[in-house]
Amino acid sequence: MELNDVLRLVRKNIINLAPYSTARDEYKGKLGVFLDANENPYENRYNRYPDPRQLELKGIISGFKGVAVENMFIGNGSDEAIDLCYRIFCTPGKDNAVAIAPSYGMYRVAADINDVEVREVQLGADFSLPVKELLAACDENTKLMFICSPNNPSGNSFPMEQMLELVSSFKGMVVVDEAYIDFASQPSLLTVLDSHKNLIILQTLSKAYGLAGLRLGLAFADAEIMSIFAKVKYPYNINLAGMERAKELLARDVKSEIEQLKSERERVAEALAAMPCVEKVFPSDANFLLVRVGDARALYDALINEQVIVRDRSRIKGCEGTLRITLGKPEENDRMLAIVKNWK
Ligand SMILES: *Cc1c(COP(=O)(O)O)cnc(C)c1O
Repeated sequence: MELNDVLRLVRKNIINLAPYSTARDEYKGKLGVFLDANENPYENRYNRYPDPRQLELKGIISGFKGVAVENMFIGNGSDEAIDLCYRIFCTPGKDNAVAIAPSYGMYRVAADINDVEVREVQLGADFSLPVKELLAACDENTKLMFICSPNNPSGNSFPMEQMLELVSSFKGMVVVDEAYIDFASQPSLLTVLDSHKNLIILQTLSKAYGLAGLRLGLAFADAEIMSIFAKVKYPYNINLAGMERAKELLARDVKSEIEQLKSERERVAEALAAMPCVEKVFPSDANFLLVRVGDARALYDALINEQVIVRDRSRIKGCEGTLRITLGKPEENDRMLAIVKNWK
């Protein structure tokens, strides 16, 4: 799609929106006597408003993601980016979105809050991407399509060609949620971002980067789309304390943690697969394993009794009889494995 066609998908009121102009938008210098923002002048580290554009943190993220600052949005978790997609592209009560299922629950919750219909399309056998069915579910009011790869809770990645087929064929925005991409064996769609104007990629600092408590979600897209995100978001959506801590913590190397989690993924999957009560361990490109055990609730309770908490996914269509188990430290995984082994 051309950029002009993409901009036509944006709601009229958003295109016409005159954003709130902050004091820091009008004067960008660092030195001076600041009598413009009604702040308290007595220094305590946080007495000044933070940079609404988060340029310093974006510069750091740009350094390791290889994406220009103009193509980036930082939100209060990915959830803010998901909500903004609906608010920017979907007129409540009229437009709709298509999403894969089973997948991340926020696509539906954010849609419900915005009074937008979500058409969920069930994944195929072995959680394959139902390309034809997804396209068939769209009509002229479909503005968004949510794909999650690697997918939560199934753990698998979808083939790049299939996702690109959706991006090329669908006449709306394709949102590819790559929250778990740093654990995946296949590359990110970031490499093709430049050539696909209707593509929005979501990532997060919550998983591989270990910063879930700071609430920093990322979106990547064409610079024009990102400037629309910037004008719709709350002006100071990321606070100064969070940005400072992120700056410090992103300086450390998470590669060894990621490698350790990936090697635990192999070890724990093999150990689980060998246990009589385990029917199937689904292949995972993420930092969790989806495991089919039959009476998932009973095993969940047995684990809880020993203070090991996993996620019961057994009531989700397509995930019957399954638990989703996040990979922890080796000794934590061992504790979980011992309970599963001795169960029944
Ligand atoms: C965990 C997760 C996120 C991350 O959410 P944050 O709000 O950034 O913490 C996004 N998408 C999926 C599919 C997830 O599982």
